[in-house]
Amino acid sequence: HNHIDHATPEKVAAALAAGDTHAHLPEYEGFTAYRDAGGYETLLALRESGDPVAEGEKVLSSGLRGLGGAGFPSGKKWEFVRAEKGPRYLAVNGDEGEPGTFKDRYYLERTPHMFLEGMLIAAWSVEAETCFIYMRDEYPAVLEILRREIAELEGAGIVAPGYIDLRRGAGAYICGEESAMIESIEGKRGLPRHRPPFVAQVGVFGRPTLVNNVETLYWVGRICREGPEVFAVEKNGRKGLRSYSVSGRVKNPGVHLLPAGSTILDVIEAAGGMAEGHVFKAYQPGGPSSGLLPASMDDIPLDFDTLQPHGSFIGSAAVVVLSDQDSARGAALNMLRFFEDESCGQCTPCRAGCEKAVKLMQAERWDQPLLEELCQVMGDASICGLGQAAPNPIRLVMKHFGEEV
Ligand code: SF4
Repeated sequence: HNHIDHATPEKVAAALAAGDTHAHLPEYEGFTAYRDAGGYETLLALRESGDPVAEGEKVLSSGLRGLGGAGFPSGKKWEFVRAEKGPRYLAVNGDEGEPGTFKDRYYLERTPHMFLEGMLIAAWSVEAETCFIYMRDEYPAVLEILRREIAELEGAGIVAPGYIDLRRGAGAYICGEESAMIESIEGKRGLPRHRPPFVAQVGVFGRPTLVNNVETLYWVGRICREGPEVFAVEKNGRKGLRSYSVSGRVKNPGVHLLPAGSTILDVIEAAGGMAEGHVFKAYQPGGPSSGLLPASMDDIPLDFDTLQPHGSFIGSAAVVVLSDQDSARGAALNMLRFFEDESCGQCTPCRAGCEKAVKLMQAERWDQPLLEELCQVMGDASICGLGQAAPNPIRLVMKHFGEEV
Protein backbone atom coordinates (compact mmCIF):
# COMPACT_ATOMS: atom_id res chain seq x y z
CA HIS A 1 0.00 0.00 0.00
CA ASN A 2 2.90 2.37 -0.37
CA HIS A 3 1.22 4.05 -3.29
CA ILE A 4 -1.65 4.98 -0.95
CA ASP A 5 0.60 6.19 1.81
CA HIS A 6 2.01 8.81 -0.50
CA ALA A 7 -1.29 9.80 -2.11
CA THR A 8 -1.98 13.37 -1.01
CA PRO A 9 -5.29 15.05 -1.96
CA GLU A 10 -3.35 17.18 -4.48
CA LYS A 11 -1.78 14.13 -6.11
CA VAL A 12 -5.11 12.35 -6.32
CA ALA A 13 -6.83 15.44 -7.75
CA ALA A 14 -4.03 15.88 -10.32
CA ALA A 15 -4.16 12.20 -11.25
CA LEU A 16 -7.94 12.28 -11.62
CA ALA A 17 -7.78 15.47 -13.70
CA ALA A 18 -5.31 13.73 -15.99
CA GLY A 19 -7.77 10.89 -16.48
CA ASP A 20 -5.61 8.59 -14.38
CA THR A 21 -8.43 7.26 -12.26
CA HIS A 22 -6.63 4.22 -10.91
CA ALA A 23 -3.19 5.48 -10.10
CA HIS A 24 -3.76 5.95 -6.41
CA LEU A 25 -6.52 3.48 -5.70
CA PRO A 26 -5.76 0.07 -4.25
CA GLU A 27 -7.24 -3.10 -5.68
CA TYR A 28 -10.56 -3.53 -3.93
CA GLU A 29 -13.71 -5.55 -4.35
CA GLY A 30 -16.10 -3.38 -6.36
CA PHE A 31 -19.88 -3.53 -6.58
CA THR A 32 -20.17 -6.11 -9.36
CA ALA A 33 -17.74 -8.57 -7.78
CA TYR A 34 -19.40 -8.17 -4.38
CA ARG A 35 -22.91 -8.59 -5.82
CA ASP A 36 -21.86 -11.63 -7.88
CA ALA A 37 -20.60 -13.28 -4.69
CA GLY A 38 -24.03 -12.93 -3.05
CA GLY A 39 -23.55 -9.41 -1.72
CA TYR A 40 -26.66 -7.41 -0.75
CA GLU A 41 -28.84 -10.57 -0.73
CA THR A 42 -28.99 -10.32 3.08
CA LEU A 43 -30.07 -6.69 2.98
CA LEU A 44 -32.68 -7.25 0.28
CA ALA A 45 -34.11 -10.30 2.09
CA LEU A 46 -34.33 -8.34 5.35
CA ARG A 47 -36.08 -5.46 3.64
CA GLU A 48 -38.54 -7.98 2.21
CA SER A 49 -39.49 -9.80 5.40
CA GLY A 50 -36.89 -9.25 8.12
CA ASP A 51 -37.51 -8.67 11.81
CA PRO A 52 -35.36 -5.84 13.26
CA VAL A 53 -35.65 -7.23 16.79
CA ALA A 54 -34.41 -10.68 15.73
CA GLU A 55 -31.59 -9.15 13.71
CA GLY A 56 -30.56 -6.99 16.67
CA GLU A 57 -30.51 -10.07 18.88
CA LYS A 58 -28.32 -11.88 16.39
CA VAL A 59 -25.82 -9.03 16.53
CA LEU A 60 -26.03 -8.95 20.33
CA SER A 61 -25.46 -12.71 20.63
CA SER A 62 -22.25 -12.44 18.59
CA GLY A 63 -20.82 -10.21 21.34
CA LEU A 64 -20.24 -7.34 18.89
CA ARG A 65 -19.49 -4.09 20.68
CA GLY A 66 -18.76 -0.64 19.27
CA LEU A 67 -15.29 -0.88 17.78
CA GLY A 68 -14.65 2.85 17.57
CA GLY A 69 -13.48 2.78 21.15
CA ALA A 70 -16.43 2.99 23.52
CA GLY A 71 -17.38 -0.69 23.34
CA PHE A 72 -21.13 -0.31 23.76
CA PRO A 73 -23.02 -3.51 22.76
CA SER A 74 -24.13 -2.85 19.18
CA GLY A 75 -27.49 -4.64 19.24
CA LYS A 76 -28.48 -2.68 22.38
CA LYS A 77 -27.70 0.62 20.70
CA TRP A 78 -30.07 -0.26 17.85
CA GLU A 79 -32.76 -1.03 20.42
CA PHE A 80 -32.33 2.35 22.13
CA VAL A 81 -32.52 4.29 18.88
CA ARG A 82 -35.50 2.28 17.63
CA ALA A 83 -37.33 3.04 20.89
CA GLU A 84 -37.15 6.80 20.13
CA LYS A 85 -39.81 8.44 18.04
CA GLY A 86 -38.82 8.97 14.37
CA PRO A 87 -37.64 10.32 12.07
CA ARG A 88 -34.21 8.92 12.91
CA TYR A 89 -30.78 9.17 11.33
CA LEU A 90 -27.70 6.99 11.11
CA ALA A 91 -24.25 8.57 11.29
CA VAL A 92 -21.10 6.59 10.56
CA ASN A 93 -18.01 7.64 12.41
CA GLY A 94 -15.19 7.20 9.89
CA ASP A 95 -12.96 9.88 11.37
CA GLU A 96 -10.37 7.36 12.62
CA GLY A 97 -8.18 10.06 14.14
CA GLU A 98 -6.81 8.15 17.14
CA PRO A 99 -3.05 8.07 16.46
CA GLY A 100 -1.94 4.58 15.51
CA THR A 101 -5.40 3.46 14.33
CA PHE A 102 -5.83 2.41 10.71
CA LYS A 103 -8.20 -0.56 10.80
CA ASP A 104 -11.21 1.22 9.26
CA ARG A 105 -9.07 2.27 6.32
CA TYR A 106 -7.84 -1.34 6.02
CA TYR A 107 -11.39 -2.67 5.55
CA LEU A 108 -12.59 0.19 3.36
CA GLU A 109 -9.67 -0.18 0.98
CA ARG A 110 -10.38 -3.88 0.54
CA THR A 111 -14.07 -4.59 0.79
CA PRO A 112 -16.05 -1.35 1.05
CA HIS A 113 -19.36 -3.06 0.28
CA MET A 114 -19.23 -5.28 3.34
CA PHE A 115 -19.23 -2.06 5.37
CA LEU A 116 -21.89 -0.42 3.16
CA GLU A 117 -24.20 -3.43 3.40
CA GLY A 118 -23.73 -3.54 7.20
CA MET A 119 -24.54 0.15 7.34
CA LEU A 120 -27.70 -0.30 5.27
CA ILE A 121 -28.79 -3.21 7.47
CA ALA A 122 -28.34 -1.04 10.58
CA ALA A 123 -30.20 1.80 8.83
CA TRP A 124 -33.02 -0.58 7.98
CA SER A 125 -33.12 -1.82 11.56
CA VAL A 126 -33.67 1.68 13.00
CA GLU A 127 -35.59 2.97 9.95
CA ALA A 128 -33.05 5.73 9.38
CA GLU A 129 -34.16 8.45 7.01
CA THR A 130 -30.61 9.30 5.90
CA CYS A 131 -27.16 7.76 6.42
CA PHE A 132 -24.38 10.26 7.00
CA ILE A 133 -20.85 8.95 6.52
CA TYR A 134 -18.33 11.23 8.22
CA MET A 135 -15.08 10.25 6.56
CA ARG A 136 -11.57 11.32 7.37
CA ASP A 137 -10.33 13.59 4.60
CA GLU A 138 -6.77 12.31 5.04
CA TYR A 139 -7.99 9.11 3.34
CA PRO A 140 -8.38 10.39 -0.24
CA ALA A 141 -8.41 6.89 -1.75
CA VAL A 142 -11.18 5.80 0.63
CA LEU A 143 -13.24 8.86 -0.24
CA GLU A 144 -12.88 8.15 -3.93
CA ILE A 145 -13.79 4.49 -3.44
CA LEU A 146 -16.90 5.45 -1.47
CA ARG A 147 -17.97 8.07 -4.02
CA ARG A 148 -17.77 5.50 -6.80
CA GLU A 149 -19.39 2.66 -4.95
CA ILE A 150 -22.25 4.75 -3.54
CA ALA A 151 -22.98 5.83 -7.12
CA GLU A 152 -23.06 2.13 -8.09
CA LEU A 153 -25.56 1.43 -5.30
CA GLU A 154 -27.75 4.27 -6.48
CA GLY A 155 -27.47 3.07 -10.07
CA ALA A 156 -28.52 -0.45 -9.07
CA GLY A 157 -31.53 0.90 -7.17
CA ILE A 158 -30.34 -0.44 -3.81
CA VAL A 159 -30.51 3.05 -2.31
CA ALA A 160 -32.31 6.16 -3.47
CA PRO A 161 -30.06 8.98 -4.74
CA GLY A 162 -28.90 11.07 -1.79
CA TYR A 163 -29.87 8.49 0.83
CA ILE A 164 -26.18 8.09 1.70
CA ASP A 165 -24.67 11.50 2.44
CA LEU A 166 -20.86 11.32 2.33
CA ARG A 167 -19.25 14.07 4.38
CA ARG A 168 -15.56 14.98 4.58
CA GLY A 169 -13.99 15.63 7.96
CA ALA A 170 -11.35 18.34 8.09
CA GLY A 171 -8.61 16.83 10.20
CA ALA A 172 -9.78 17.63 13.73
CA TYR A 173 -9.16 14.81 16.20
CA ILE A 174 -12.05 15.98 18.34
CA CYS A 175 -14.51 15.36 15.49
CA GLY A 176 -14.05 11.64 16.16
CA GLU A 177 -15.91 12.24 19.43
CA GLU A 178 -19.46 11.38 18.44
CA SER A 179 -21.26 14.52 19.58
CA ALA A 180 -18.56 16.78 18.08
CA MET A 181 -18.88 14.78 14.86
CA ILE A 182 -22.62 15.47 14.88
CA GLU A 183 -22.01 19.19 15.37
CA SER A 184 -19.63 19.06 12.41
CA ILE A 185 -22.20 17.22 10.26
CA GLU A 186 -24.63 20.01 11.11
CA GLY A 187 -22.12 22.49 9.73
CA LYS A 188 -20.94 23.86 13.05
CA ARG A 189 -17.61 23.87 14.88
CA GLY A 190 -16.84 20.41 16.26
CA LEU A 191 -17.39 21.01 19.96
CA PRO A 192 -18.42 18.02 22.09
CA ARG A 193 -21.85 18.27 23.69
CA HIS A 194 -22.77 17.70 27.30
CA ARG A 195 -24.65 14.47 27.98
CA PRO A 196 -27.45 13.69 28.67
CA PRO A 197 -29.24 13.86 26.34
CA PHE A 198 -27.44 11.08 24.50
CA VAL A 199 -27.11 11.13 20.72
CA ALA A 200 -29.44 8.11 20.50
CA GLN A 201 -32.13 10.53 21.69
CA VAL A 202 -30.94 13.92 20.40
CA GLY A 203 -28.44 13.49 17.59
CA VAL A 204 -28.08 14.97 14.10
CA PHE A 205 -30.39 18.02 13.78
CA GLY A 206 -31.97 17.07 17.09
CA ARG A 207 -33.18 13.69 15.81
CA PRO A 208 -32.53 10.27 17.39
CA THR A 209 -29.31 9.05 15.76
CA LEU A 210 -27.55 5.73 15.59
CA VAL A 211 -23.80 6.37 15.56
CA ASN A 212 -21.61 3.44 14.60
CA ASN A 213 -17.96 3.09 13.68
CA VAL A 214 -16.91 1.77 10.23
CA GLU A 215 -15.47 -1.51 11.49
CA THR A 216 -18.52 -2.18 13.65
CA LEU A 217 -20.71 -1.96 10.55
CA TYR A 218 -18.34 -4.16 8.58
CA TRP A 219 -18.92 -6.86 11.21
CA VAL A 220 -22.68 -6.22 11.24
CA GLY A 221 -22.62 -7.05 7.52
CA ARG A 222 -20.72 -10.26 8.11
CA ILE A 223 -22.67 -11.36 11.18
CA CYS A 224 -26.03 -10.88 9.46
CA ARG A 225 -24.79 -12.79 6.42
CA GLU A 226 -22.65 -15.55 7.98
CA GLY A 227 -24.21 -15.84 11.44
CA PRO A 228 -23.04 -14.74 14.90
CA GLU A 229 -20.41 -17.53 15.00
CA VAL A 230 -18.18 -15.61 12.61
CA PHE A 231 -17.48 -13.10 15.39
CA ALA A 232 -18.20 -15.00 18.60
CA VAL A 233 -14.69 -16.44 19.05
CA GLU A 234 -13.72 -17.02 22.70
CA LYS A 235 -10.32 -16.77 24.32
CA ASN A 236 -9.18 -16.14 27.92
CA GLY A 237 -12.82 -15.70 28.92
CA ARG A 238 -13.38 -12.92 26.37
CA LYS A 239 -15.68 -13.03 23.37
CA GLY A 240 -15.28 -11.50 19.92
CA LEU A 241 -12.56 -10.44 17.52
CA ARG A 242 -10.40 -7.33 17.50
CA SER A 243 -8.61 -5.74 14.59
CA TYR A 244 -5.46 -4.51 16.29
CA SER A 245 -3.69 -1.72 14.38
CA VAL A 246 -0.11 -2.59 15.29
CA SER A 247 2.83 -0.25 14.81
CA GLY A 248 6.15 0.53 16.45
CA ARG A 249 9.07 -1.83 16.99
CA VAL A 250 7.62 -4.97 15.44
CA LYS A 251 8.66 -6.86 12.32
CA ASN A 252 5.30 -6.67 10.54
CA PRO A 253 3.26 -3.62 11.47
CA GLY A 254 -0.30 -3.63 10.14
CA VAL A 255 -3.82 -4.75 11.01
CA HIS A 256 -3.87 -8.09 12.79
CA LEU A 257 -7.21 -9.76 13.47
CA LEU A 258 -7.10 -11.75 16.72
CA PRO A 259 -9.49 -12.93 19.43
CA ALA A 260 -10.46 -10.19 21.90
CA GLY A 261 -8.79 -12.13 24.72
CA SER A 262 -5.33 -11.74 23.16
CA THR A 263 -2.48 -10.33 25.23
CA ILE A 264 0.26 -7.99 24.04
CA LEU A 265 2.53 -11.02 23.58
CA ASP A 266 -0.03 -12.57 21.19
CA VAL A 267 -0.23 -9.28 19.30
CA ILE A 268 3.57 -8.98 19.00
CA GLU A 269 3.76 -12.59 17.84
CA ALA A 270 1.09 -11.96 15.19
CA ALA A 271 3.13 -8.96 14.06
CA GLY A 272 6.15 -11.20 13.45
CA GLY A 273 7.88 -10.53 16.76
CA MET A 274 10.04 -7.61 17.83
CA ALA A 275 12.06 -5.81 15.17
CA GLU A 276 15.69 -6.89 14.91
CA GLY A 277 17.81 -5.50 17.74
CA HIS A 278 14.89 -4.28 19.84
CA VAL A 279 13.83 -5.52 23.28
CA PHE A 280 10.18 -5.09 24.29
CA LYS A 281 9.85 -2.33 26.88
CA ALA A 282 6.36 -0.81 26.85
CA TYR A 283 3.13 -0.60 24.86
CA GLN A 284 0.30 1.74 24.12
CA PRO A 285 -2.75 -0.56 24.14
CA GLY A 286 -5.32 1.68 22.45
CA GLY A 287 -4.28 5.13 21.30
CA PRO A 288 -2.55 7.83 23.35
CA SER A 289 -5.61 8.21 25.60
CA SER A 290 -4.83 4.71 26.89
CA GLY A 291 -1.33 5.77 27.99
CA LEU A 292 1.58 3.37 28.29
CA LEU A 293 1.92 0.04 30.07
CA PRO A 294 5.21 -1.69 30.89
CA ALA A 295 6.33 -4.93 29.23
CA SER A 296 5.96 -6.71 32.58
CA MET A 297 2.16 -6.37 32.26
CA ASP A 298 2.04 -8.79 29.38
CA ASP A 299 -0.73 -11.16 30.45
CA ILE A 300 -3.78 -8.88 30.32
CA PRO A 301 -6.37 -9.64 27.62
CA LEU A 302 -6.49 -6.52 25.44
CA ASP A 303 -10.24 -6.05 25.48
CA PHE A 304 -12.90 -3.65 26.72
CA ASP A 305 -13.11 -3.54 30.55
CA THR A 306 -9.95 -5.59 31.18
CA LEU A 307 -7.55 -2.64 31.22
CA GLN A 308 -9.64 -0.27 33.35
CA PRO A 309 -8.32 -1.59 36.67
CA HIS A 310 -4.83 -0.73 35.41
CA GLY A 311 -5.72 2.88 34.57
CA SER A 312 -5.92 2.22 30.84
CA PHE A 313 -8.36 1.00 28.18
CA ILE A 314 -8.35 -0.67 24.80
CA GLY A 315 -10.17 2.10 22.87
CA SER A 316 -9.77 1.57 19.14
CA ALA A 317 -7.09 -1.12 19.67
CA ALA A 318 -4.24 1.00 18.29
CA VAL A 319 -1.26 -0.86 19.69
CA VAL A 320 2.13 0.84 19.57
CA VAL A 321 5.07 -1.26 20.72
CA LEU A 322 8.07 0.53 22.26
CA SER A 323 11.53 -0.95 22.80
CA ASP A 324 14.58 -0.40 24.99
CA GLN A 325 15.60 2.27 22.48
CA ASP A 326 12.52 4.40 23.23
CA SER A 327 11.80 6.76 26.07
CA ALA A 328 8.50 6.27 27.93
CA ARG A 329 8.77 9.82 29.22
CA GLY A 330 9.29 11.14 25.69
CA ALA A 331 6.31 9.14 24.43
CA ALA A 332 4.06 10.55 27.17
CA LEU A 333 5.19 14.10 26.42
CA ASN A 334 4.48 13.52 22.75
CA MET A 335 0.98 12.30 23.62
CA LEU A 336 0.25 15.37 25.76
CA ARG A 337 1.54 17.67 23.02
CA PHE A 338 -0.94 16.00 20.72
CA PHE A 339 -3.80 16.57 23.19
CA GLU A 340 -2.71 20.19 23.66
CA ASP A 341 -2.91 20.70 19.89
CA GLU A 342 -6.20 18.88 19.50
CA SER A 343 -8.12 20.15 22.54
CA CYS A 344 -11.16 21.97 21.17
CA GLY A 345 -10.65 24.65 23.82
CA GLN A 346 -14.23 24.60 25.04
CA CYS A 347 -13.48 23.84 28.70
CA THR A 348 -10.71 25.19 30.90
CA PRO A 349 -9.48 22.00 32.64
CA CYS A 350 -8.59 20.50 29.27
CA ARG A 351 -7.53 23.62 27.35
CA ALA A 352 -5.33 25.03 30.11
CA GLY A 353 -4.58 21.64 31.69
CA CYS A 354 -2.97 20.08 28.60
CA GLU A 355 -0.82 23.17 28.09
CA LYS A 356 0.24 23.21 31.74
CA ALA A 357 0.97 19.47 31.69
CA VAL A 358 3.26 19.85 28.66
CA LYS A 359 5.21 22.59 30.47
CA LEU A 360 5.54 20.50 33.63
CA MET A 361 6.60 17.44 31.65
CA GLN A 362 9.45 19.34 30.02
CA ALA A 363 11.18 19.89 33.37
CA GLU A 364 14.17 17.67 34.02
CA ARG A 365 12.45 16.21 37.07
CA TRP A 366 8.66 16.07 37.02
CA ASP A 367 6.82 17.76 39.90
CA GLN A 368 4.77 14.63 40.51
CA PRO A 369 2.44 15.90 43.27
CA LEU A 370 1.53 18.92 41.15
CA LEU A 371 1.03 16.79 38.04
CA GLU A 372 -1.18 14.42 40.02
CA GLU A 373 -3.30 17.35 41.20
CA LEU A 374 -3.61 18.58 37.63
CA CYS A 375 -4.57 15.08 36.43
CA GLN A 376 -7.29 14.95 39.07
CA VAL A 377 -8.85 18.25 37.96
CA MET A 378 -8.67 17.34 34.26
CA GLY A 379 -10.23 13.92 34.84
CA ASP A 380 -12.99 15.26 37.09
CA ALA A 381 -13.98 18.43 35.30
CA SER A 382 -13.42 18.04 31.54
CA ILE A 383 -16.49 17.80 29.33
CA CYS A 384 -15.39 14.98 27.05
CA GLY A 385 -13.09 12.00 26.81
CA LEU A 386 -10.13 13.97 25.47
CA GLY A 387 -9.61 15.96 28.65
CA GLN A 388 -10.77 13.12 30.89
CA ALA A 389 -8.29 10.61 29.44
CA ALA A 390 -5.36 12.95 28.76
CA PRO A 391 -3.97 12.28 32.29
CA ASN A 392 -3.60 8.54 31.55
CA PRO A 393 -0.13 8.74 29.92
CA ILE A 394 1.11 11.02 32.73
CA ARG A 395 -0.12 8.81 35.54
CA LEU A 396 1.02 5.56 33.95
CA VAL A 397 4.51 6.85 33.25
CA MET A 398 4.83 8.15 36.84
CA LYS A 399 3.67 4.76 38.11
CA HIS A 400 5.63 2.39 35.87
CA PHE A 401 8.57 4.38 34.59
CA GLY A 402 9.34 6.50 37.67
CA GLU A 403 13.09 6.28 37.06
CA GLU A 404 12.70 8.27 33.81
CA VAL A 405 10.88 11.20 35.37
FE1 SF4 B 1 -12.94 20.31 24.25
FE2 SF4 B 1 -11.08 19.19 25.83
FE3 SF4 B 1 -13.32 20.07 26.87
FE4 SF4 B 1 -13.33 17.89 25.29
S1 SF4 B 1 -12.38 18.05 27.28
S2 SF4 B 1 -14.81 19.57 25.29
S3 SF4 B 1 -11.72 18.50 23.83
S4 SF4 B 1 -11.77 21.36 25.82
